[in-house]
Amino acid sequence: MATVELSRLRRTLGRWYRVNGRHDLPWRTTRDPYAVLVSEVMLQQTQVSRVHPRYETWLKRWPTAESLAEATTGTVIREWAGLGYNRRAVNLQRAAREALEKFGGIPTEEAKLLTLPGVGPYTAAAVACFAGDKRTVALDTNIARVVARTLLGEATARVPHKQKLKEAAKAWLPKRGTRAHQLAAMDLGATVCKASSPACEICPLKSDCTWLAAGQPEADPTPNGKVTAAPFKSTARFARGQIVAILAKDSPLPASSIAAQLPEEHQENCGRYLEALAGDGIVTFRKEHWGLAEDL
Ligand code: SF4
Repeated sequence: MATVELSRLRRTLGRWYRVNGRHDLPWRTTRDPYAVLVSEVMLQQTQVSRVHPRYETWLKRWPTAESLAEATTGTVIREWAGLGYNRRAVNLQRAAREALEKFGGIPTEEAKLLTLPGVGPYTAAAVACFAGDKRTVALDTNIARVVARTLLGEATARVPHKQKLKEAAKAWLPKRGTRAHQLAAMDLGATVCKASSPACEICPLKSDCTWLAAGQPEADPTPNGKVTAAPFKSTARFARGQIVAILAKDSPLPASSIAAQLPEEHQENCGRYLEALAGDGIVTFRKEHWGLAEDL
């Protein structure tokens, strides 16, 4: 897309954002890298509406990286309950501890952020951009979809397009005001350019959207056909979550007591799940009993 069109798209998106952006999300009103990191880790696999109250409770309990670092891991896992993927909580605390040790606090430089546990390229870029105002591409699923459709004429932001997407998103970044620009694209993707039902008729970018102009062609079919997911309750992830919930209520417990509280189909694998959770630093074993990390 020509430079002049990109700059028109930027301006249009910016005007839309000033009126329609989700400016009141609590992690949007801070530039504290610790608070932004907490929000980004919570948002990795959990919806905004569920994260909102939990983020506020978390920051009341642990307002700084120092306070989180000092808590026991078991307490941190209990506070995380219901957000899913307990490893995120363990890694968040490890990141706080490591960042304090190595950098004296949560950094805003991407390279430093990437050295911390649980911080991948998107989270590092998001903290650098949203807390540090760094000019870097933070390609979350919403931004990626808007870039794919508007600039590349692709229905989805599927993996084969990753490099193309990154380049297009980078070319679209303004020289200044990267933070607002990317938050705007994120909000447009979350509220207007939705995955299955884009509201093109009210979209500020509709006159310049390549995908709309091309007649909204469908994405290529999945090469290996549709994969049917197993019911969640029969997955190892579900069983591991159950184990953490059991130990959060009552611990220490022997493996046999934990297994007895699991659904029948998971009981024989209880030992394997406990080992995996121990490997992730979520549970610990002492004197024939299991408990949440640092509880025993
Ligand atoms: S015109 Fe439609 S497809 Fe294009 S960015 Fe807007 S909502 Fe998305």
